[in-house]
Amino acid sequence: MDLDLPAEHALLRQTVRAYLADEVAPIVDRHERERRFPIEVVRQVGEMGWLGIPVPERWGGAGMDTLAYAVAVEEIARVWGSLALIVAAHTSLACGGLMLDGTDEQRDTFLTPMASGRVIGGYGLTEPGAGSDAGGTRTTARRDGDSWVIDGAKRFITNAGQAGTYVVAARTGTTAQGRAEVGAFIVPADSPGFSVGRLEEKLGLHASATGELHFDGVRVPAGNVLGDPAGGFRLFLRILDGGRISIGALALGLAQAALDAAIPYVRERKQFGRPIGSFEAVAFRIADMATEIEAARAMVWRAAWLRDRGREFGLAAAQAKLFASEVASRATNAALLSHGGYGYVDDYPVGRYLRDAKLTEIGEGTSDIQRLVIARQILDLRVS
Ligand SMILES: Cc1cc2nc3c(=O)[nH]c(=O)nc-3n(C[C@H](O)[C@H](O)[C@H](O)COP(=O)(O)OP(=O)(O)OC[C@H]3O[C@@H](n4cnc5c(N)ncnc54)[C@H](O)[C@@H]3O)c2cc1C
Repeated sequence: MDLDLPAEHALLRQTVRAYLADEVAPIVDRHERERRFPIEVVRQVGEMGWLGIPVPERWGGAGMDTLAYAVAVEEIARVWGSLALIVAAHTSLACGGLMLDGTDEQRDTFLTPMASGRVIGGYGLTEPGAGSDAGGTRTTARRDGDSWVIDGAKRFITNAGQAGTYVVAARTGTTAQGRAEVGAFIVPADSPGFSVGRLEEKLGLHASATGELHFDGVRVPAGNVLGDPAGGFRLFLRILDGGRISIGALALGLAQAALDAAIPYVRERKQFGRPIGSFEAVAFRIADMATEIEAARAMVWRAAWLRDRGREFGLAAAQAKLFASEVASRATNAALLSHGGYGYVDDYPVGRYLRDAKLTEIGEGTSDIQRLVIARQILDLRVS
């Protein structure tokens, strides 16, 4: 067993870290305050090849693996949660769907522009009435000659209004048992009848875009279905398995950022004539953060490692996402409390880390849903 990062991954980590520190860190606060999508940075990140890290070079990607991607997302999140979410939704969810079930022709047309950073991707599963219960999808796709016609709406979609290509779930029929049959459709943003609705005002991740998608008789060619038009639900679940590794990595980056901020602060800040880090209550918070972060990183890397070896990784990904996101919430909260009143004002970044971390307990399946996924796999109970 070798727990060292391979040299190629360590180099990627160092390169991403240096770029973020030099080019990105100075503009984060302004973009967050102004709630401005960092389009220039996303373009640069695309030019560096980081919008397609796990995508084969044949389709415009960097040809690296899931572990490399997880390492990069963690580094990005250490500096900017919003940018990490933009990259994660684009890569794991939009590119991920095409990587899993796209034909070579679909990949040439849609994946290559995304993985090479020319087009941003989005992924539309959630609807007003279909969140944790994605089977409640109401958006429909009806076959009409050589096309599919999509009607309905999506909610809470990352990269809404910025993406040029969306991978979208729509109901194509109903099984004999009354369950929804769902297809995965590739929808270019310039399709007639497609529009972006309200963009959300959020608790955190202010520079990322989260919004509604509307489909009003949107016609896409029959060739824009990913895999089986009735079997898309399974595809979406597989996409989410992969996405959970990146949300785990994002959570890890936020937790690490919180620890990085807390350590120098508690060493320097003096009360009662001593550094506050010398008080056991404060020091133990740091010890817990550091310990939990190590455990979360081991879980995220293990899930990526399993996937990269073609092994079953869904359980490990759900466990990593569940644990890392809860660690992120605890660590960012601990960092904020360790800053006292200074943690509550905007001069220090720990408040942003805490706000951003909450999303990791919600997106791509809430913690309750991760526990359901984990328990079902462990208990293997079939309840109708
Ligand atoms: C910033 C942001 C970005 C997002 N980006 C995307 C995106 O790009 N694409 C996309 O498709 N979606 C996206 N989402 C949506 C996200 O995946 C959903 O919000 C999430 O899956 C939860 O669904 P919901 O909000 O409808 O909550 P609900 O499903 O209504 O859940 C509410 C509460 O009930 C609990 N609950 C529900 N069902 C059960 C159950 N069976 N057992 C136990 N507890 C349960 C939940 O855990 C939660 O605590 C995003 C959301 C946010 C906030």
